[in-house]
Amino acid sequence: MASKDLWISVLKRLQPTIKKAHFITWFQNTIALENKEGILVIGVPTSFARDWISAKYGVKVEQAVKELDSELTGVEYEIHSRLAEKGCNEGVDVKKLVSGDDKKVRKVRNVNEVVVSRGPNNERVASKMLNVKYDMNTFVVGNDNRLPHAASTAVINMPGGIYNPLYIYGNVGLGKTHLLQAIGNGILSSFPDKVVKYITAEKFVTDVVQAISKRKMSSFKEQYRNVDVFLLDDVQFFARKNSSQQEFFHTFNELYDRNKQIVITSDRPPSELDDLEERLTSRFGMGMVVELLFPDFETRLAILHQKCREFEGIIDPAVLEFIATNVHNNVRELEGVLRQAIAESQLENRVPTISSVAAIIKRLNKAQKIIGYDIEAKRQNYMARTAGDVMNIVAGFYNVTVQNLQGKDRHKEVMRPRQLCMYLIKNELGDSYEKIGSGFGGRNHTTVMHACNKMSDMLKKDVNLVKDVNAIKREMGL
Ligand code: ADP
Ligand code: MG
Repeated sequence: MASKDLWISVLKRLQPTIKKAHFITWFQNTIALENKEGILVIGVPTSFARDWISAKYGVKVEQAVKELDSELTGVEYEIHSRLAEKGCNEGVDVKKLVSGDDKKVRKVRNVNEVVVSRGPNNERVASKMLNVKYDMNTFVVGNDNRLPHAASTAVINMPGGIYNPLYIYGNVGLGKTHLLQAIGNGILSSFPDKVVKYITAEKFVTDVVQAISKRKMSSFKEQYRNVDVFLLDDVQFFARKNSSQQEFFHTFNELYDRNKQIVITSDRPPSELDDLEERLTSRFGMGMVVELLFPDFETRLAILHQKCREFEGIIDPAVLEFIATNVHNNVRELEGVLRQAIAESQLENRVPTISSVAAIIKRLNKAQKIIGYDIEAKRQNYMARTAGDVMNIVAGFYNVTVQNLQGKDRHKEVMRPRQLCMYLIKNELGDSYEKIGSGFGGRNHTTVMHACNKMSDMLKKDVNLVKDVNAIKREMGL
């Protein structure tokens, strides 16, 4: 059999044993190049694909090859970057191999939502309140969320114990809802008979309003007071909603007196809930108050690895590191960038790279200063050696182009980076003013000198600029 046909047979044989998305990601555009003295040489588009295929599927591939052609003794992979080019159709289009048996396995979202609550006759009633994806096991613990995590675990082990009420606060997207629901799920799996009620303050307010208008206040009270665990999300939403506050106050007291567990989340500590009644906020502080913070770099990276497992995406570790370096707001954004990277790679059928991810981050936030383009290079002890290297780094950092830096535009957004770039080339590479000037579109040496002096002055006063310079220098390998 010719090598090319053999490879197609190998792929057909492998396909049913590998998840479709993974199969396409890794084997698309691969090609059998030659039979080199009994070794089948396979061309692959990237080094990442080569490493991944040989690590994860190497054994399977070799087995199939030997079974299909007993004269062959092994497989080798060679990188042929032209296979990665758009429009290249030399390699095998593996999508065609999988489209035949296209029984789409589609995951129904949230099918496992938990069924809990009691009806009028005390029977268990279905409610789509808790989402099983929020689990303690999928919540990554780092230095900045150790306490909230420990307190939540304690509540799961002993609902209505010493951490009652538990009050968790923190900025948006830091995992409050995740923890709150994980508490509900955790309690239900240890104590299946307990009745757990999860509700957002917003929904509670709507329910109160409806109950009042339909004169059903007493049945409303019933359903809230007959629970063992009451999880209230985003309590800050009660601000200036007086009847809801009052209703919640009574519910709270009754549950608390009967040692039922109450967990509350909020975007701020109880003392700063200015638009809530004092008698309510003072109760929030009676048990345990914990704050969720934005996780540090290592934890962000661990969260990304966790989410990759959840989303079943495969991403180069260097790319994950790049995302963890450049997302500074919250975990939700971290997750958002990752999701987009995975989606793009599946739609366009290519592996997410540092620059494709950088584009996603910039799309989300134009003003973002990007660092870490050289995360890969840094591993190999990268150092910026030429003016061009420095221009590339500065341009990437400030989200402008090298042409902008070399051009004539005198807007601050371009001029500052240009001057800083000159300053860095002068101070770190030691190039002469003349040489620098010619690299910047033939500028006069006095212009360069002026820029360098200006930057030295500014660096004495402007802390943010100092931070930028430090980040850029790290990037330069200094
Ligand atoms: P909040 O309620 O504080 O606004 P969420 O609980 O909705 O935030 O969290 C936003 C997203 O970030 C969720 O998908 C959640 O799973 C994820 N997340 C936040 N913190 C962590 C963590 N420590 N480990 C894993 N995932 C996290
Ligand atoms: Mg939330």
